[in-house]
Amino acid sequence: ELALTVPPVRTTCPYCGVGCGVLAAPDGKGGTRISGDPDHPANFGRLCSKGSALGETLSFDGRLHHPMIRGADGRMAQASWSAALDRVADGFRETLERHGPDSVAFYVSGQLLTEDYYVANKLMKGFLGSANIDTNSRLCMASSVAGHKRAFGADVVPGCYEDLDSADLLVLTGSNAAWCHPILHQRMVKNRNERGARIVVIDPRRTTTAEDADLVLQIAPGTDSVLFSGLLVYLADNGVVDTAYIENRTDGYAEALARARAIAPTVPAVARACDLDVQDVAAFFDLFRVTEKAVTLYSQGVNQAAQGTDKVNAIINCHLATGRIGKEGMGPFSLTGQPNAMGGREVGGLANQLAAHMDFAPAEIDRVRRFWKAPSMATRPGLKAVDLFDAVQDGRIKALWVMATNPVVSLPRADRIKAALKELDVFVLSEAVASNDTLDARPDVLLPAATWGEKDGTVTNSERRISRQRAFLVPPAEAKPDWWIICEVAKRLGYKDAFGFRSPCEIFREHAALSTFENDGGRDFDIGGLSTLSPFDYEELAPVQWPVRAESAKGQSRVFADGRFDTPDGRGRFVAVEQPRPAARSMGAFPYRLNTGRVRDHWHTMTRTGKSPRLSSHIDEPFVEVSRGDAVAADLSEGGLARVTSKHGSAVMRVRVSEGQRRSELFAPIHWNAQTASSARVGAVSHAYCDPYSGQPDMKATPVRLEPV
Ligand code: SF4
Repeated sequence: ELALTVPPVRTTCPYCGVGCGVLAAPDGKGGTRISGDPDHPANFGRLCSKGSALGETLSFDGRLHHPMIRGADGRMAQASWSAALDRVADGFRETLERHGPDSVAFYVSGQLLTEDYYVANKLMKGFLGSANIDTNSRLCMASSVAGHKRAFGADVVPGCYEDLDSADLLVLTGSNAAWCHPILHQRMVKNRNERGARIVVIDPRRTTTAEDADLVLQIAPGTDSVLFSGLLVYLADNGVVDTAYIENRTDGYAEALARARAIAPTVPAVARACDLDVQDVAAFFDLFRVTEKAVTLYSQGVNQAAQGTDKVNAIINCHLATGRIGKEGMGPFSLTGQPNAMGGREVGGLANQLAAHMDFAPAEIDRVRRFWKAPSMATRPGLKAVDLFDAVQDGRIKALWVMATNPVVSLPRADRIKAALKELDVFVLSEAVASNDTLDARPDVLLPAATWGEKDGTVTNSERRISRQRAFLVPPAEAKPDWWIICEVAKRLGYKDAFGFRSPCEIFREHAALSTFENDGGRDFDIGGLSTLSPFDYEELAPVQWPVRAESAKGQSRVFADGRFDTPDGRGRFVAVEQPRPAARSMGAFPYRLNTGRVRDHWHTMTRTGKSPRLSSHIDEPFVEVSRGDAVAADLSEGGLARVTSKHGSAVMRVRVSEGQRRSELFAPIHWNAQTASSARVGAVSHAYCDPYSGQPDMKATPVRLEPV
């Protein structure tokens, strides 16, 4: 490894959506000292276990070093970049000519930098003529996106991390923040210890996050929208709603309240539906009633659900009803899972969006087309992740390019994904590593990608803060940044001018210019203040929260403070949420419900964290968490092996008997895969029911059976 720079380089952690600032100091001998950036407003110098172990994960062992092409004999062989890029361009061109634009697709990732994402989206939606580009952020944040758009008219997180310091009540629902967003959780606990803020945790599992809570509601899975509907009724009946705000700034309150009354009329009814103690429900409602400065944080437990979008809106309804949005210490707060899930949303990485938060409305399609001078603009939404892979399986999609993600582990019904990929005419994979489960699905072309520490660009964290990721290492062998790879393919397809970018800075400027193009202030995502950055300014760019309009280049910590939303009439929208219903009942041959999630010290499919012995020592093998009663009933004991089986597949895991697990509920982590534990791929077990608004799969409630091995 060659060190590019000896003094510490300011960059951003590649793991969760907290987006902590990192100082990386290569020692010139192959090592890198990692510390928290004391000046970064997301973390002020602190790092969690994953962030602080980044230096242990930078070796080039196991990396993909060269482009590879599958030959006529079926074997992969090293190829030049030129030959590999020609093969990709030829494959997509021929597929488009024979089968039309909807026969091609990209599946990308919240691990990509905004600049990578921008050119991928531009190529697919403006030049290949399809909107079939979706991202693994669909598995993570899509319900929050849909909920935000229904309520606010735009995908906007209204608040900022400072609100977690000044709130007097912090409600965490569907979030094990102590493990999944540790630096933010520490911030909340500090507020509790120093200012006396109260913490309420709502989760079917009693997780580590519950240890620092004042009140824990171990709720029946899938019933969060009943709980928050009950809260709306309680606030209305106790005269806490802000009637002037509701009257002047919102629409839909009466309908939403009537529906909430039908679902959750009284505290005892809520307690029954959510399987909670009446006193606990009443205590939570009362805390929310008397505490004006309240933030409600939510993550995958809310989003990854058959009614994920309704859950988000049930939460937002309570904040709208009390006017607690956009003000210091108040608001609904979606915790982003991935480091750049929000940046991906900004450039249109979801199949149902255009770039710069524009939609598939005729005027917006036309605006983007003119800005890009696009010859073949997509005119309708593309396929969302689960549908996209269904289309791969049934042959509608014939050419697919997967970038920076491992769908054979992470998508639900993962065995089916693997089988589907083998049917493609053209399967291209951009990867940093030389071995993973998706590589086993026989790509035709493998493109070695640069990864964290080796490439430049930007990411956006959960509080809308754009931060720089900066390179401090030379990529191994022939690995290249994703933006470069995408642009080279685009040029070979004949789009030299539109993809003639020479640096991430040039891409970022175009992205910023599009956000402000014909934007009279009515579009939420506007970073026009960054559209003229010089290469030096871009290099020096300090973390900043969008919107960054041309006239106020400092950014904005909170939005909607004036009670004006991004809907056409500027009014917020209450949403009348539906009675929740399970996507699939746990009964008969599959009597248990499998919940999935993360552990503290691993990330996604472990390609990076698996390199650190320190991180692996926290939990070193896949497990299934089982309540004591269920362990006895299923003849399982602590430390034994169990097989978890659904209609779609099975996985074998170590049994952990847990007092924090509800009866008939199981929990298993998502990280392990065929490379790390041959038969513990939880994605193979998960069903693929999706929320009807967001298309996000419900990976928290797969009916399964459980048996000793
Ligand atoms: Fe990285 Fe998230 Fe840990 Fe911060 S909290 S160091 S962003 S993993």
